[in-house]
Amino acid sequence: MTRIAFVGLGNMGGGMAANQAKAGHEVQAFDLSKAALEKAVGAGCVAAGSAAEAVKAADAVITMLPAGQHVRSIYAGEIIPNAKPGALMIDCSTIDVESARAVAKQVSEAGFRFADAPVSGGQAGAEAGTLAFMVGCAEADFPAVEALIAPMSRITIRAGDHGAGQAAKICNNMVLGATMIATCEAFALAEKLGLEPERFFEIASKSSGQSWSLTSYCPWPGPVPTAPSNRNYEGGFATAMMLKDLKLAQEAAAKAGAATPLGAQAEGLYALFDRLGGGGKDFSAILELFRGHAPA
Ligand code: NAD
Repeated sequence: MTRIAFVGLGNMGGGMAANQAKAGHEVQAFDLSKAALEKAVGAGCVAAGSAAEAVKAADAVITMLPAGQHVRSIYAGEIIPNAKPGALMIDCSTIDVESARAVAKQVSEAGFRFADAPVSGGQAGAEAGTLAFMVGCAEADFPAVEALIAPMSRITIRAGDHGAGQAAKICNNMVLGATMIATCEAFALAEKLGLEPERFFEIASKSSGQSWSLTSYCPWPGPVPTAPSNRNYEGGFATAMMLKDLKLAQEAAAKAGAATPLGAQAEGLYALFDRLGGGGKDFSAILELFRGHAPA
């Protein structure tokens, strides 16, 4: 049994902390939201009064917070000054690469081990313990990181040193955003040309137009029964979340001097769809924009 401090028990962190408790670990949990904390206690975690209190006797610390500023401030203000010597710290939030590297530096300088380990798989994956983790950490620390992540994960891959997990996450989601838009444009064009969308799916899924966006997450309702398009685009991966990741990719590209014009277009289109009211819909709902419909 490991004593784990888990901070950030929202849509993602709630299920992840519950899976650690289910695996037999003692989970000292904290969230600013009382409701989130109560839910975690119901799932077998122990309520801590603050992040500082949660980490005091913990062998490992896991954080799942909204953005870079939350992660920077909680590590500097509460986690590093109060953690037990030797504790392993893993931040699973999706944040900017610069913040991940800055926190890693602070944590390492204070004598602790750190990994940035953002995830893919959404709330359903968090609850089922089937998330994919992309890890940035020292090579020597990876076995311990992988073991700690195991109850929450389907697959864990070391992307490289500190910051590489976040870099992998935003590069992956930039591909996802752009291929989803291309797929939606193609369905809207097929419809205008009188080509049956189901026939287009059948052909493209076996041709060079094939992608995850088409065959696992088809934006046109019907061909892939498990896709959010069949549930009026409810659940899944919200447009607002995709927009957050595309913005992070654009910020990183600007700082690194990389040319990412398709990523920039994708960010602009998702920002427009968000402004039109589509922020809470699954990101495949952007099909509606190309069909000339307002978000339902
Ligand atoms: P969320 O808003 O549901 O949860 C964040 C939680 O952090 C909230 O409960 C909030 O109260 C808590 N929090 C904020 N500041 C805090 C502090 N100082 N101390 C303690 N608790 C604090 O968000 P989420 O959907 O769980 O996402 C969390 C992270 O996971 C984000 O970085 C997001 O980009 C990433 N992510 C989300 C998804 C998804 O599908 N929801 C998928 C992959 C990655």
